[in-house]
Amino acid sequence: MSKRKEMQIKKRQEMVEKNGIIYLDNVSKSYSTGSPALNGVTVSIMPGEFVFIVGDSGSGKSTMIRLLLRELTATSGHVYVMGNDLAKLRHGKIPKFRRNLGVVFQDFRLLNDRNVYENVAFAQRIIEKSAKDIRKNVPTILATVGLAGKYKAKTTELSGGEKQRVALARALVNRPSILLADEPTGNLDPKNSWDIMHLLEEINEAGTTVVVVTHNREIVNAMHKRVITMKKGVVVSDQQEGGYIDED
Ligand code: ADP
Ligand code: MG
Repeated sequence: MSKRKEMQIKKRQEMVEKNGIIYLDNVSKSYSTGSPALNGVTVSIMPGEFVFIVGDSGSGKSTMIRLLLRELTATSGHVYVMGNDLAKLRHGKIPKFRRNLGVVFQDFRLLNDRNVYENVAFAQRIIEKSAKDIRKNVPTILATVGLAGKYKAKTTELSGGEKQRVALARALVNRPSILLADEPTGNLDPKNSWDIMHLLEEINEAGTTVVVVTHNREIVNAMHKRVITMKKGVVVSDQQEGGYIDED
């Protein structure tokens, strides 16, 4: 490894130790229309944390997730993920950067022309895993999410809860350091919502940093995790072992 590369890695490690694996430093984001979606947001998340992000619709939660994925760039302020200043990340480096992140959405976003196994294997093919690794890793992760018996199923034949498990397996199969979930239980019934949240908790306990955007008041109140509450693009509360703050 070159001296320069070594220095870069050391600098990123120091950044993570000091400011977190995720660090938004006075971040604002404006779209071309309307008031800013984020307005001076500062948030620091340490490696291994489990964090809920809550807030009314339109408060900027998804914008925050999209900034972390580098789908968007901040209008002002700095977004750091794993010590990388995302504004400085060159376009060619974005795919490699995203390997550190697993992501799941409310609407699952599966490939419906492929079966369960292929949906997960696909994520490994993108990063050019060997056929041997794929044959080992895909069944392992499907077992973790409780879908070992469903690997041949068409995604269209699955229940909502099962679809989200496939999405979770796909997000995790490349072993990301961070898992981002944007309303992962938004389309699920209470039982499946709890199952997914318990899986997210297990994944976190195994070392992954987990950030979950949710409207599920009951789950947030029961889990006693850190809760960041957004309102109109601003962080209005950030509590360890927090709960859902009721609107007046
Ligand atoms: P949340 O996820 O909390 O519901 P969003 O981050 O999606 O909030 O949206 C925050 C604000 O930014 C809202 O006012 C929304 O209308 C606006 N917004 C989100 N995405 C876009 C976009 N692509 N173009 C313009 N405005 C957007
Ligand atoms: Mg949203």
